[in-house]
This record gives sequence, structure tokens and C-alpha cells, in this order.
Amino acid sequence: MINWKEIDTVLLDMDGTLLDLNFDNHFWKEFVPLKFAEQQGLSTTTAKQQLEPRFKSMEGKLEWYCLDYWSEVLQLDIAGLKAELSGLIAVLPHVTEFLEKLQQSSLKVLLVTNAHRDSLALKMEKTCLQPFFDGIISSHDLGLPKEHAVFWDLLQQQQPFDKQKTLLIDDNLKVLNSARLFGIVHLISVSKPDSKQPKKNVSDFPAIEDFRELMIGL
Ligand SMILES: [Mg+2]
Repeated sequence: MINWKEIDTVLLDMDGTLLDLNFDNHFWKEFVPLKFAEQQGLSTTTAKQQLEPRFKSMEGKLEWYCLDYWSEVLQLDIAGLKAELSGLIAVLPHVTEFLEKLQQSSLKVLLVTNAHRDSLALKMEKTCLQPFFDGIISSHDLGLPKEHAVFWDLLQQQQPFDKQKTLLIDDNLKVLNSARLFGIVHLISVSKPDSKQPKKNVSDFPAIEDFRELMIGL
């Protein structure tokens, strides 16, 4: 799937790529509606009906990933609630082996995420993955989400990389599309970002179910 000889930099997404998206899905689809319902005196069903379109309208925008934004508009302590549910934060199968292999190689490895710094800190604390990366970039620091093609320009200014020799692995197809538009050549998607959901059909990009598929030749 990948000729590792052609790669010198690996950009890795966090949620749904290295970490099980079940945490985030459960958090936003079940836990937040439950807490919102309690606070507003609503049934959980009504809370879900009210929140779903509000979440939908923010998808792909930086605010969607911003804990402060949601804390403000929902009047809930989103960071605190995440910490409360943090037992569900989990690394996807074979990720650690893959990261160990990368660490033994001469490749530059960057974690590039849309996650808010608070969320990122909580996840690094829970998973202990931080030492595997040469750098960790949150799109909040650059002011644009990864779905925006200009994001990659800003990233490249901060962390120089050769588009021809860079591999991006990300479960979000909009992100892969913006990276393709920018010119990153090697792009891979993830077909099982959430361990509790069925495998997704990915047609526009090569997709891995787990990282064993990428370890050949590494
Ligand atoms: Mg992701």
C-alpha cells in the first residue's frame, strides 16, 4: 500500500485514526445530550433532537472542535465532562506497534489534529502516546481546521515538509480531500475509526482497517 522508501514525513490524525472514535461518538451523541437534558429539564430524546442540528451545522468548522465554544453555548463544562468520561479513551488496535516502528525509523512523525488543546492534553495523558511524536500540532493554534486547504500551507510554514514525500493518515475524508488539493501525495484513510461501529466503505482513498496493513516494509 505504501512504499516507505518514498516517505520521509508521516502526518497522523488523532481521533478515529490513532484513538478509538467511540469515545468522541459516545461523548457527543449520548453523554452531552444526557447532561444537557438534565440541565434543561428535558427528556434525553428531546435533548438529542435539539442538539443534533446544532452539531451538524458546525461540522468542519474550527468551533466544532472547540471545547470553550460548546461550554459557552450549551452552558456545560465540556472539558470537565470529557474528563468524567475519560475511561472510554482508547488506542485503536496495533497503533502502538506502528508508532514504535516509526520511532525506530528515521521518519519524522507529527500528530496533526483538529482537537482542542484541552482535549488533546487529556487524551495524551490517558494514552501516553506523546513521546512517539516529533511534534504535535493542533489546528486551533493555526486558526483553521484541517478541512481547509490553507491549513496545510500554514502547517508547512511551521513544520517544513515535502508534499511528494509526506504521508497523511486521517479518517476524515474532507480532511484528506483538502490535503490532496494542497498537493500531499500519499493519503490513507481508516475504515474502522470507531471500534463499536461497522467497517466503513471508503472509495476515494486507500483505506486501512488497522495499522498492520501499513507495517510491511517499514
Ligand atoms: Mg479523525
